Amino acid sequence: MITPVMPTYARIDLLFERGEGAYLFTETGERYLDFASGIAVTALGHSHPHLVEVLKEQADKVWHLSNLYRIPGQERLAERLVANSFADTVFFGNSGAEANECGFKTIRKHYYAKGQPERNRIITVSGAFHGRTLATLSAGGQEKYLTGFAPRMDGFDQVAFNNLNELRAAITAETAGIVFEPIQGEGGVRQATIEYMQQLRRVADEFDLLLMFDEVQCGMGRTGKLFAYEWSGITPDVMSLAKGIGGGFPVGACLATEKAASGMTAGTHGSTYGGNPLGMAVANGVLDVLLEPGFLDHVTEIGAYLKGKLEAVVAKHPKVLSAVRGTGLMLGLECVVPNGEFQAKLRDAHLLTVAAGDNVIRVLPPLIIGREEADEAARIVEQVAQTWFS
Ligand SMILES: *Cc1c(COP(=O)(O)O)cnc(C)c1O
Repeated sequence: MITPVMPTYARIDLLFERGEGAYLFTETGERYLDFASGIAVTALGHSHPHLVEVLKEQADKVWHLSNLYRIPGQERLAERLVANSFADTVFFGNSGAEANECGFKTIRKHYYAKGQPERNRIITVSGAFHGRTLATLSAGGQEKYLTGFAPRMDGFDQVAFNNLNELRAAITAETAGIVFEPIQGEGGVRQATIEYMQQLRRVADEFDLLLMFDEVQCGMGRTGKLFAYEWSGITPDVMSLAKGIGGGFPVGACLATEKAASGMTAGTHGSTYGGNPLGMAVANGVLDVLLEPGFLDHVTEIGAYLKGKLEAVVAKHPKVLSAVRGTGLMLGLECVVPNGEFQAKLRDAHLLTVAAGDNVIRVLPPLIIGREEADEAARIVEQVAQTWFS
């Protein structure tokens, strides 16, 4: 018999009642170290006092207005995102998929507005993940998620990750843009080289294409910079954000330059809930903390510390784990043994992580962790690795 909750997830039978910082507590009071962060969402940990305060404050004023009226929180957040990025303008939605949909539409509309409607195809790369709507699934091109949902949405051409020759060869007179994750999350914390990202910019300029980065997972301070593109020294024309931006409140955003968004005029796009006052209050609260002097340096410092600790464990257990990938607090444990099984053992030992592609386990702690939590996580990984073959 089907469950009342549509059974699209193979859920783990754990019931968390409350969270505090990097920890989650079950209804029976058992404590888990949460290095999954609701898949890179709770960037400031659970029940961060500043976020609780701004949410409660907004809850007493007004919850929802719709985009028929001005929303001050939206204006403030958009101004701050613009001031701290390449972008000139921002559309707010509620999820990563929705942010990406806005990006795809922005790209298509740009060329339509320029009188080149035939230029409407977007190039993506293998291993990508852009969401679960029909367009974002077609963009991601992953068979395991697409099976049974035919027909695929047309308009996406996929090339191999980190392979510039293949990308150049795929460009046609119909190509409008390139969509790319600077660090693939679901794909297994796969990081493009800085040279590749710089080449993407060069190719986009050469063929007059719009370059869009999907920073839904790697953005908002996760890598130690506010946005992952900052590591490459180049800027995209369009960028999607979600996950960490709301710290646990559903918020998505699509950022664009004025030029890229040339076609996005009144009436061209919308979202009933997008940029809702509650979400905007919390997202502004997240940004308050991320922009505090030294906060992103902390992410870099503690990320390097945790990576070093995990690398030491890997070096001792080469038959179980083979390497640590990633930047800042977007880390991936490369497994020799099946990642799902290792991840389950970590969970049994009260450390929450997330499995990903490429036989990798994602380690995505809240950005507020200190050395104690990093030490505790490394200790649990060590203990599970040590007892693996016994
Ligand atoms: C999670 C994710 C998405 C989809 O976000 P949803 O909020 O689940 O729609 C898109 N792109 C990337 C890179 C992601 O990690």
